[in-house]
Amino acid sequence: MAAQEVAMLTDVSQCIGCKACEVACKEWNQLPAEKTSFQGSYQSHPDLTAHTWTVVRFTEQVKADGQVRWHFNKMSCMHCTEAACVLACPVEALRHDPSGAIRLETDRCIGCGYCEEACPFGAVHVDRQSFDTAKVAGKCTFCFDRISNGLEPACVHACPTDAIRFGPREELVGYGRQRVDELRKGGHAQANLYGEKELGGLHYMFVLTEKPEVYGLPADPQVSPTQSFWKGILQPAGRVILGAGVVGALAHLVVASRSFGQREATEKAGQREKGGDGRHGPDSQV
Ligand code: SF4
Ligand code: SF4
Repeated sequence: MAAQEVAMLTDVSQCIGCKACEVACKEWNQLPAEKTSFQGSYQSHPDLTAHTWTVVRFTEQVKADGQVRWHFNKMSCMHCTEAACVLACPVEALRHDPSGAIRLETDRCIGCGYCEEACPFGAVHVDRQSFDTAKVAGKCTFCFDRISNGLEPACVHACPTDAIRFGPREELVGYGRQRVDELRKGGHAQANLYGEKELGGLHYMFVLTEKPEVYGLPADPQVSPTQSFWKGILQPAGRVILGAGVVGALAHLVVASRSFGQREATEKAGQREKGGDGRHGPDSQV
């Protein structure tokens, strides 16, 4: 087990969109290929799924001067300190690890999908398609099997430009701040370190050259108070007093109500940043 708190950081200014990280993730985790079709973008998959844990988002941004800029950002689970998925899971299949990773124990998962609805990043999904395997959730594992044996995550290892880094979280925060300074001095006035403070600190952070919304990231991700209430009070009481089915129904009401509002806000923010041209949103590609 990784003893100290670790993290990953992607510097989007160094990403060339080659997707080596996507391939490495599929290979290392032996994830099946998924059929996709070309829909006007070089993004490989429209979004993360139960079998695709890493996707490089391709986003076009039309600047005020009419110039078009292309942005790449590698999306996966952000391994949040305040993790909505952990709060939402009725059977505690999702747990915090001291390394900072959010671990998913698939043998505990009942495939209810509450984590999927709760996650503000759309990073965890339940496989509802397969008929021959159990319908359980799937997401980035932080390559826990690798990091607990002294290796870096597969995506970090594969990245040819060192755009993705792995190491002690404190060191990566320092590196990220330094990169933001350099980018601002280089003319990227909006450069920022995403994930240093969001949701208590993410264990997958970004150095961004534009505002988070440009990349389809929520500017201020939140866990609703009702979810914390659910985890702290309703869930333990529910287990004792109610049957599992009734507990699940209550959880669904709590999670679904907050999830809808947050996703809607993120989508609207993304559309605004794209100047309403609506051609190549991350979720509308391929
Ligand atoms: S990004 Fe989503 S799935 Fe990953 S830890 Fe945060 S809430 Fe959970
Ligand atoms: S491997 Fe590195 S450069 Fe290639 S797409 Fe992933 S983050 Fe970008």
